Amino acid sequence: MSEWTSILDDLTNYLRWRQECGARAEEFEPETLHAFMSSAPGKTAARSPITGPASAHSAKTGAPKGVTGFQQPTASDERSTPDLAETPEHRLAALDQTAQKVAACKQCVLCEKRTQTVPGQGNARAPDIMFIGEAPGADEDAQGLAFVGAAGQLLTRMIEAMGYTREQVFIANICKCRPPNNRPPTLEEMQACLPYLRAQIAAIRPKTIVALGATAVKGLLESNVGISRLRGTWTTYANIPLMPTYHPAYLLRFPPAKKDAWEDLKKVLVRLGKPVPVKKKPEA
Ligand code: URA
Ligand code: SF4
Repeated sequence: MSEWTSILDDLTNYLRWRQECGARAEEFEPETLHAFMSSAPGKTAARSPITGPASAHSAKTGAPKGVTGFQQPTASDERSTPDLAETPEHRLAALDQTAQKVAACKQCVLCEKRTQTVPGQGNARAPDIMFIGEAPGADEDAQGLAFVGAAGQLLTRMIEAMGYTREQVFIANICKCRPPNNRPPTLEEMQACLPYLRAQIAAIRPKTIVALGATAVKGLLESNVGISRLRGTWTTYANIPLMPTYHPAYLLRFPPAKKDAWEDLKKVLVRLGKPVPVKKKPEA
């Protein structure tokens, strides 16, 4: 990656984060732009003003000067704030830091019954796909890994049918702790946990997201429209193309829906410019 690509990635990441904080416009002081330019390839400045202690930020509030529509970050935004790091290594460190915060988290009642937290796992270096489910079940809670039970095994077959391995994609959930008796997480629990997922997305930078099932889609998109209506149609989350589809646990209970899920996954492959395997759908 050229230095320019890295600097532009930083800038994009920063602006995405500002947008998520509610900012609709951004102004930079002349000296900030000057510092930004001087950190470009061939110049001598050591640290990008995007990631360093930015002179464009007010000392009092941390808010960039001259921003219109700025909302003060809340306590939960603090968890979602991505580490505005300039290298993939920094982003991996930020991901690790998020997992550590998750391990200590007591932001919702799900902390009470968990055996361990399940932050998610896989390829964290800009994978083609990030799969997002709702919450860990018993197997995941026992192993600390996302999607390792029966539904996880079907997810593995779906991933492999697409031409990937589990290690090549990232697999996570909205809630990082198991709800008692495998009940779906409530909207409040998902909202409490979402800042971690947003921080993960900022660090991982997946090219596409596949949201698995009605609960995950409801938590991510805050929509009450059913999954059977939403599936198969592209939308975005955190400025990343998102494809809603059925949850593998639902596909285990209702195998005829696999055909539809496969159509959705094929759309993801087309969007990624990958070959679409012919007549290959995940078998139960
Ligand atoms: N269901 C989910 O949504 N996530 C898991 O990790 C396992 C089952
Ligand atoms: Fe914290 Fe998320 Fe676990 Fe709730 S589900 S305790 S918000 S890590």
